[in-house]
Amino acid sequence: MKRLEKLYEGKAKILYATDNPDLLIQYFKDEATAFDGKKKGIIKEKGILNNKISSRIFQYLEDKGIPTHFVERPSDREMAVKKMQIIPIEVVVRNIAAGSLAKRMGVEEGTPLKKTILEFYYKSDPLGDPMINDYHIEAFGLAQKFEADVLKEMALEINGYLSKFFDERGITLVDFKLEFGRHKGQILLGDEITPDGCRLWDKQTKEKMDKDRFRRDMGKIEEAYQEVCRKVLE
Ligand code: UDP
Repeated sequence: MKRLEKLYEGKAKILYATDNPDLLIQYFKDEATAFDGKKKGIIKEKGILNNKISSRIFQYLEDKGIPTHFVERPSDREMAVKKMQIIPIEVVVRNIAAGSLAKRMGVEEGTPLKKTILEFYYKSDPLGDPMINDYHIEAFGLAQKFEADVLKEMALEINGYLSKFFDERGITLVDFKLEFGRHKGQILLGDEITPDGCRLWDKQTKEKMDKDRFRRDMGKIEEAYQEVCRKVLE
C-alpha cells in the first residue's frame, strides 16, 4: 500500500489517501491541544505511543466482535484504516464523574455514578462541539434513528470490554470519547482510543495517566503515556 496525497490535517492526526481506494492512512502527530485548540503543545513521542495503544485496543475490540476501521499498523506513526463516511457525532461514555460533567453537575471529580452515562456532541470545531441528544441527531439529519441506536449499543458494549481490559491492567476507565463512520453499509468504530480521548486513572493511587496531565499542567505527561502504552501492550 502506497501513501498518496494528504486529505485532511487535524489537531493530532493527518489523513492520507492510499493507492487502495478503500483504505486511508492515519498519521499520528506529537501535537497536543486542549480547550478547543486554545492550548497547544507537544507531547514527545505521543504519536508513536498513541498509534501502538490504539492499534492494540482496536485489535482487542475486533477480537470481541466490534467492527472497527483498523486494518494494520504499517509503521510507528501510521495506521491503515478503512475509508469511512464520518458520522459527525462524538459519543462520550462516562463511568465516573470527571471533567465537564463534574463541573456541570457541581460534584467532585471521582464521584461514582449510579449508571453509565452516554452523551452525544455535534462534531464542529467552530461551534466547540455542542452537546446534543437523539432529537437533534434526527432533526438535523446527522444520522438516522437506527444509526443513533447502533451508536448507543456499540458504545455501551465497547465500554464493557474496555473497562475490563483496563481494569485487568490496574487502570480505571473513567470516561472516553468515541467516533464512528459508515463503511459498505456497516457502522464502524473509527478515530482512535488513546489517553488523548480517555480519562485513565491508576486503580490504586488514582493518579491521572491521560491528557488531563497536559490540560492541567501536571507534568510527567510523556511518562504517563509511556506507562499506559506499556500496560496496554501487556
Ligand atoms: N473528549 C475528547 N474530545 C473532546 C471532548 C472530550 O476526546 O472534544 C474526551 C475527554 O478526553 C474525556 C471525555 O471525552 O475522556 C469527556 O470529556 P469532558 O466532556 O469531561 O470534557 P473535557 O473535560 O475534556 O473538556
